[in-house]
Amino acid sequence: MPKILLQNTTAQPYELDEYHQFVCSRRDECKCTIERVVGPNGKLVSKRHPKSWRLTAHGTIGPLDPEVLFVPYIARLVKTGILKRIDVADEAPVKEN
Ligand SMILES: [Zn+2]
Repeated sequence: MPKILLQNTTAQPYELDEYHQFVCSRRDECKCTIERVVGPNGKLVSKRHPKSWRLTAHGTIGPLDPEVLFVPYIARLVKTGILKRIDVADEAPVKEN
């Protein structure tokens, strides 16, 4: 499946969050970190740490699943040209941030 890169065209850093809410739920696959912690009643409960990224000034992040474009916050940044979407092929070298 093709991936995308998001390039920040501004000197303003952005936090990309809401990954679980929009991306995991669309994919029926959760890539977030789940931690098992002892809850207030003494039982083990799952605590989710949603995937998130920090996009530095003029930085590029990816490859990301194209579903991130369904995150309204990201869609808005792409639409206004603050983030530039770059499509990459499957064989492109992986650069995780
Ligand atoms: Zn998730």
